[in-house]
Amino acid sequence: MSGQQTAKDNMKRGRYDELKGILEERRREIMSEVQGRMRDVRAEGAGSTVQGVLDAAESSEMDIQDEIEFALIQMKAETLSKIDEALRRLEEATYGYCFECGEEISERRLRALPFAVRCKDCEEAREMAQQRERIQARRGSATLGFDMRG
Ligand SMILES: [Zn+2]
Repeated sequence: MSGQQTAKDNMKRGRYDELKGILEERRREIMSEVQGRMRDVRAEGAGSTVQGVLDAAESSEMDIQDEIEFALIQMKAETLSKIDEALRRLEEATYGYCFECGEEISERRLRALPFAVRCKDCEEAREMAQQRERIQARRGSATLGFDMRG
C-alpha cells in the first residue's frame, strides 16, 4: 500500500491547462448558442400571438418548430452539464484517461470528442464488438419482416 497517490500529481500541468481550456471553450460556445436560441424562440412566440389568426395546420407547424427549438436547447443544456461533469472530473484528475486501459486519451481526440472516455484503440475495439452484436441482432429480428414502405 503506497497510500494516497492523487492522480492530479501525475497529470502534467500543461495537459491539465490544455484540457481545461478545451472544456471551457466548448462551454462558452454552447452558452452563447443557447442564449441566442432562447432569444429566437421568444421572438417567434411574440410574433405568433400578434398574428393570432393562423389556421390550425400552420399553428401546429409552429408548435413543431418550437418543440424542435426547445429540444435543441435541452440537448445543449445536457451537453453543458456533461462539460461541468468533465470539469469536475478534471479537478479530480480522472478526466482524459481511458476508462478501459487507463492510458491518457490524446488531446487531439479530446478536442474532437470532449466526452470521450476511451482511447482510440479501446473505442475501436468496442465499436467492432458492437457491430458484431448489431449484425447478430439483425439476424435475430429478420423473421419479424420489417416493412418500411409506409
Ligand atoms: Zn484504452
